[in-house]
Amino acid sequence: MTESTTETCLFCRIVRGEIPAGRLRESPDSLAIADISPQAPHHCLLIPKRHATDIGEFMKGPRAAEEMADLLAVGLGLVAEKGLSERGYRLVVNTGREGGQTVPHLHIHLLAGREMGWPPG
Ligand code: C5P
Repeated sequence: MTESTTETCLFCRIVRGEIPAGRLRESPDSLAIADISPQAPHHCLLIPKRHATDIGEFMKGPRAAEEMADLLAVGLGLVAEKGLSERGYRLVVNTGREGGQTVPHLHIHLLAGREMGWPPG
């Protein structure tokens, strides 16, 4: 995983509409898209519009708590819309190399629609 600027960052480019994506839900601070390589019947990415490499960097922002609440609200909106709460779902934040992060812009995976294993690989 290499560092990227907002100019070259994949998710910043998706947020700006420069790269096509399955846009599912949006707010002024957040965007939810369908993952291009789904690992479950439902696999969405919750992406804050403000660029930050990972959750640690993101939470240093002056409005971070508000932005994070908004990001989760966008995700829970999808959970409600798709009726996922009864069977359950998983939220995942891969962070850094050993955490399995491949895109250096904070995102939360929302996975649902199949039995999940534990521990994760
Ligand atoms: O947690 P991690 O950084 O590995 O997640 C990145 C996710 O972004 C992957 O699940 C990948 O399939 C997804 N992706 C995407 N659209 C792209 C590039 C990557 O949905 N154009």
